[in-house]
Amino acid sequence: MNTQVSIEGSAAPEKNSAMNINTQLFINGEFVAAKNGGTIDVLNPATGELITRIAAAEAEDVDLAVSAAQKAFPAWSEMPAAERGRLLFKLADLIEEHTEELAQLESLDTGHPIRDSRRLDVPRTVACFRYFAGMADKIEGSVIPVEQGFLNYVTREPIGVVGQIVPWNFPLMFTSWKLGPALAAGNVVVMKPSEITPLSTLRIAELIKQAGFPDGVVNIVPGYGYTAGQRLAEHPDVGKISFTGSTQTGRNIVNASTGNLKRIQLELGGKGANIVFEDANIDAAVNGAIWAIFHNQGQACIAGSRLMLHESIADQFLDKFIALAKTIRLGNPMDANTEMGPLTSELHRTKVLSYAKIAVEQGGKILLGGTVPEDENLKNGFYVLPTIVEAKPMDRVAQEEVFGPFVAVMRFKDDAEALAMANSTEYGLGSGLWTSNLQRAHSLARKIKVGMCWINSYKRVNPGSPFGGVGKSGYGREMGFESIHDYTEAKSVWVNIDAKIPPHLERGTS
Ligand code: NAD
Repeated sequence: MNTQVSIEGSAAPEKNSAMNINTQLFINGEFVAAKNGGTIDVLNPATGELITRIAAAEAEDVDLAVSAAQKAFPAWSEMPAAERGRLLFKLADLIEEHTEELAQLESLDTGHPIRDSRRLDVPRTVACFRYFAGMADKIEGSVIPVEQGFLNYVTREPIGVVGQIVPWNFPLMFTSWKLGPALAAGNVVVMKPSEITPLSTLRIAELIKQAGFPDGVVNIVPGYGYTAGQRLAEHPDVGKISFTGSTQTGRNIVNASTGNLKRIQLELGGKGANIVFEDANIDAAVNGAIWAIFHNQGQACIAGSRLMLHESIADQFLDKFIALAKTIRLGNPMDANTEMGPLTSELHRTKVLSYAKIAVEQGGKILLGGTVPEDENLKNGFYVLPTIVEAKPMDRVAQEEVFGPFVAVMRFKDDAEALAMANSTEYGLGSGLWTSNLQRAHSLARKIKVGMCWINSYKRVNPGSPFGGVGKSGYGREMGFESIHDYTEAKSVWVNIDAKIPPHLERGTS
């Protein structure tokens, strides 16, 4: 087995043997060309060069995928749950066996440093599939203590065809977050990866086939959002959309879903408040704040993109924070020494850089970066230097999601001001509190309006712990048992166990 992923120039939309992936659509267990023959160029963000060309699904292809899924649903949902779990375990094992290959593919396509793809993206994907594999036969119902003479039990039933729309920042990991609970609960899936980073998902499609999943249970249709994504969101036979992406697209999806009133789960943008109090372990907080914003070049919805510092420690903290940020090694993502790679697309880099200008226009002060690196070796990739900007809480850089290696620093004088600042954006996803005062930590964790709060840590995720947000960060949860609720319908069954005419049905009673 060749585990070296190499760059192959222009490729027709079929098997790209250099990368060991099929570049066509995965529908009903087969790799097929798009009906209209459309293709998408997939670029290497580290060089700007073409990696390969993949088939682009349009509405007609999405329709085929949905009907394949519909056909697969009865047998899949009636299969013993433990058997569904066994297939998910098998998939997890195959992913683990292909760790190096998948890590290289993910880094090539997204720009994630290979060290992170190896130690985080792939192992987390495996762990998440295993978690839901084990969950498959533990999705229990309940019995409700209703009045004598009746038995009332509640079962959790799969929804049917689920559409899953994925962004470009963690494509491999998101396959497990979305496919894991959907499949464990007995649903069938049509997944649309991002047009920018579809490669690891296409490789997962092959492993799904190899694992022995029945045809049509999982269908993968890379394509543009305004065609394939839009069709999936409005499709009358899709019962639910699970969407991760920007708040604006989330709104479009809700609008498109009204035809059949499908269920929607939204994981949208964020503007994570990372708050450091005067009693924090400063060195731990500096390291945590670096990870919070610069991991994956800041392209994370939970990034700690607002760094709030108590005024008494702000200068000391910033000296250490800036000094450490200067040591981050930018480079080719495939180099094991690289700590920060390029942003995933050129368009996105342009957006991120525009915020440096916006910050200055609003009176902000750039403390580090704000531009591209001078290194000749990096000039063709979509790189941005780690950027630290001092700003005011209502400045655009402190309110809008930049989604890059760009942190807005603010100072506060007491807990009340820190909390007000933290709760001042329209988002509510991730947050961090650095303090040695337990009472303060738990009190603020209760008051901060977010879906996730880390105390003396940042950006921890685990397949058992629910992930999602409030406000314009979306609704519904991924992972944990919460996600099973989101992928099932509760059915309440009433049984008359007295075999008599129940009193409320006797004539003359009401
Ligand atoms: P995006 O909204 O542009 O695209 C996300 C997906 O939606 C892509 O697959 C795209 O093709 C598709 N899409 C675009 N327009 C569509 C339409 N009209 N109908 C249906 N589908 C459509 O987002 P992005 O730029 O790929 O990702 C970055 C965003 O994702 C950021 O805002 C980030 O915060 C968010 N994000 C959120 C989470 C979370 O869990 N809350 C996680 C990761 C990323």
